[in-house]
Amino acid sequence: MADLADIAGDLAERDRAESLALHAARTAHPRPTSRTPADRCAGCGQPIPAARRAAHPAATRCAPCQAAAEVRRTRQHRTGVW
Ligand SMILES: [Zn+2]
Repeated sequence: MADLADIAGDLAERDRAESLALHAARTAHPRPTSRTPADRCAGCGQPIPAARRAAHPAATRCAPCQAAAEVRRTRQHRTGVW
């Protein structure tokens, strides 16, 4: 029969392994942040102009695609249709 120290040791080991796996996954596929701006627009796939990235470092779309997305979102909000 396992005593509490064995159980605690097993849980700590499992927790450590999960943390290491999560860290490895995040390192392999970092999410875009304001410090790592997206190079390409999420809408059209074209490069986001440097001026837009400078003005909005967290931008994930070019200006026309962002405007279109905002219009769609406003319409969806108004009509309730998603
Ligand atoms: Zn675009």
